[in-house]
Amino acid sequence: MDLTERLAKERRARLAAERLLEQKTRELFAANEKLALHARSLSDQIVEQREVVRSVKTEAETLKGQNHRFLNDLERAHTAAVMAERRLWDSINTIRDGFAVFDSQLKLVTANQAYKAIFTSQGINPGDSYPDLIALAAQKGIIDLQGEGEGDWIARMIARLDEDPVETETARLTNGTWIRVVDRRARDGDMVSLVFDITEQMRIWAAIEALPDAFVLFDREERLLTCNQRYRDMFPDSAHNMVPGIPFEALLRQGLAAGHVPAARGREEEWLADRLAQFRDAGASECQLSDGRWIRETDHVTPDGGRVGLRTDITQLREQQIALDAARRAAEAANRAKSAFLANMSHEIRTPMNGVVGMAELLCDTPLSDEQRLFAETIRSSGEALLNIINDILDYSKLEAERMTLHPEPFDLERTIHEVTMLLQPRARAKGIDMMIDYDMFLPTRFVGDPGRLRQVLTNLIGNAVKFTETGHVLTRVVGIEAEDGREQLHVTVEDTGIGIAPEHLDHIFGEFNQVEDERNRKYEGTGLGLAITRRLIERMGGAVWVDSEAGKGSAFGFRVTLPVGEEGQPVRPPVSLRRALVVDDKFINRTILERQLAPCGIEVTLCRSGSEALAAVAGSVLAGTPFDVVLTDHDMPEMDGISLAARLRAEGLAMPILLLSSNPTLAREREGAAALDAILQKPVLRAELYRRLHDLSAPALQEPVAEPVAAAAPATERRRMRVLAAEDNKTNQLVFQKMVRGLDLDLVFAGNGLEAVEQWRSFAPDLIFMDISMPEMDGKEAAAAIRAGEPAGVHVPIVAMTAHAMEGDAEAILASGIDRYMTKPLRKAAIVEALGEFCPEAARPLAGLAEDAA
Ligand code: ADP
Repeated sequence: MDLTERLAKERRARLAAERLLEQKTRELFAANEKLALHARSLSDQIVEQREVVRSVKTEAETLKGQNHRFLNDLERAHTAAVMAERRLWDSINTIRDGFAVFDSQLKLVTANQAYKAIFTSQGINPGDSYPDLIALAAQKGIIDLQGEGEGDWIARMIARLDEDPVETETARLTNGTWIRVVDRRARDGDMVSLVFDITEQMRIWAAIEALPDAFVLFDREERLLTCNQRYRDMFPDSAHNMVPGIPFEALLRQGLAAGHVPAARGREEEWLADRLAQFRDAGASECQLSDGRWIRETDHVTPDGGRVGLRTDITQLREQQIALDAARRAAEAANRAKSAFLANMSHEIRTPMNGVVGMAELLCDTPLSDEQRLFAETIRSSGEALLNIINDILDYSKLEAERMTLHPEPFDLERTIHEVTMLLQPRARAKGIDMMIDYDMFLPTRFVGDPGRLRQVLTNLIGNAVKFTETGHVLTRVVGIEAEDGREQLHVTVEDTGIGIAPEHLDHIFGEFNQVEDERNRKYEGTGLGLAITRRLIERMGGAVWVDSEAGKGSAFGFRVTLPVGEEGQPVRPPVSLRRALVVDDKFINRTILERQLAPCGIEVTLCRSGSEALAAVAGSVLAGTPFDVVLTDHDMPEMDGISLAARLRAEGLAMPILLLSSNPTLAREREGAAALDAILQKPVLRAELYRRLHDLSAPALQEPVAEPVAAAAPATERRRMRVLAAEDNKTNQLVFQKMVRGLDLDLVFAGNGLEAVEQWRSFAPDLIFMDISMPEMDGKEAAAAIRAGEPAGVHVPIVAMTAHAMEGDAEAILASGIDRYMTKPLRKAAIVEALGEFCPEAARPLAGLAEDAA
């Protein structure tokens, strides 16, 4: 080969080599690049790996730390648990209650000191069996078996261990300790036994043993827990059965089988059911045992649902009760006999007293020598005093026997107070005492109540006030407070200026037969029953009485009753046309009362304290051109009395009407100068009466002087005479009656019995019949019934019964027979006159004057 070729070959080889190098360089470069990339990711991974390793390392270190702490804690916990167990055992050992654990085979695992202490002398060891320990306790006399057999007790105690839950047991140890054994199965089959020392609680037991009553305690399953010795002694035949655990029903059945309960014989099951029901309901009953003893059985529920029973021997108590009942019945019979005796005696005494008082009254009306008059007056007043005493005693015994019934009816309270005051006026007048009534102007006057009983209360209080007052006044005040349902609470006060009552006697005077015992009081007569009756009567009316008094100054007795307001009868018409009135009275209270009565009628009232003041006032009024339309003057005033004042006014040429208010109108009328008066009014004047008089003065037709009451009461001649029939079998009483109506303008016939009365009623056609109740052949009630039966429709003859019967019940029977009214004997002229006035209106006018005589 030539050089060129060689060169060319060399150059081609070189070029190829260059190209190969170039390619290899490129490949190397690419591989290098790849490698660089790979190396970079590899380094990244390494960094990452390094991070992971670092965190794992940290974690491992933390865990290691934790593990270390945990191991520490575990160690500490273990130490604490060991300590706690020790402490627990220490504590369990210190408690007084026993604690033991038995395994599922009932072998003792462990027990505290208290548990072991129960068995001290023997000692107990782990591995001992529970039933063995029970038997040991019984056999070694640790347990007081309370009468139960040793074998029985052991068997019962062991048998209960099979129950679930195990029954709690109470036992007494012979050393006096009381224990309660509570056994509980644990989940792993162990038995935990707790023995509580309940000696403290059982101390109460000692007290129960000391009880005079039998005591028995049952659990909620009605099984006997325990009983005291009394219980065993009470039922000696069953005592041997009274072992803890025996059901109550079993005890009862044993008693029944032995015939201990006579009342259950033949109906045992029924009796048992009743007794068990009572036991369950915790009731009480009394039962007699076959030996004659009476037992009271009471059962009570205990907080845990058991029953505690008390059995009391009440044999003696029952005997006493029977004796007491008999004594009470005897006493009641005696009391009834006493009431009947009192009623009969009052009847017996009143009938002859009717003769005595009535005849004495009539005797006084005949011409008598001074000495004879004194004798006759004494007979009359002594008779009346005796009657008052009989009435008081009778009323009191009625209240005492609760046989007093109230008879409410509409009545006028103001008028009643006025009437009572008027009846007592003569006694007050004799002593120179002023009687005043201050009846609240705005209070109604008609109420529904028992007027007779209220009159009795008022008579007693106002009567006492007059009796125990020597100078001054007796003022009866009535005020009212409106209560609900159209009722009014009334306050009635009786004030006096008498001897008064020392504070230490104030409580005592409302008692029965109680009087203030001192020198000054001795001279006043009385039974000491008045206030006792008053208090009881007011209490019957639902009210109350009170007293306020100062020795030497006076007393105020009051009572409060709430009564329904009655329908107004005749409205009190105020005297409208009078404008100015002059009131003359030396007493402040009287002036005030009159002013209070007149001012609301629109009358301008001028008050003067004396005659001379009045003369000056009259002169002044004439000068001023406003003269008085009327002068009301008191009678009895110092310096110048009312009559002299009237005479002076007339002498001055004054013609206005002058009314004299006097406690003694008769005396006033007889006085020289009385002609100057237009009217004389009895003090205290009834408001309606005052208004009527003033009204008459206001009426122009009656401008001329008003006639005096007696003159006005002159009988009208043309009137028919009233026919009065009196049925009365007793001749003396007929005579008394006849004399009492003597002087009255009436035709009087007598009937000797009920039959005659009915006949006379047909033939004589009386306007009014007075009817005795007890008469032979036909009594008053029968006669009244016969008359009512024979009366044609629309005709009704008033019949007034005259009776000596005063006991409650009589009144109803009397009124039921058709009698309109009854009055009790002895008859009073005033009562007869009042009845005539009420039932024979035509006869009312002639009787007005007589009514005053009667007062
Ligand atoms: P009697 O008036 O029958 O003695 P009472 O029961 O009415 O019985 O009164 C009892 C006593 O109360 C009276 O005896 C008297 O001592 C006293 N007494 C009653 N009212 C008054 C009175 N207004 N002033 C003073 N003492 C009175």
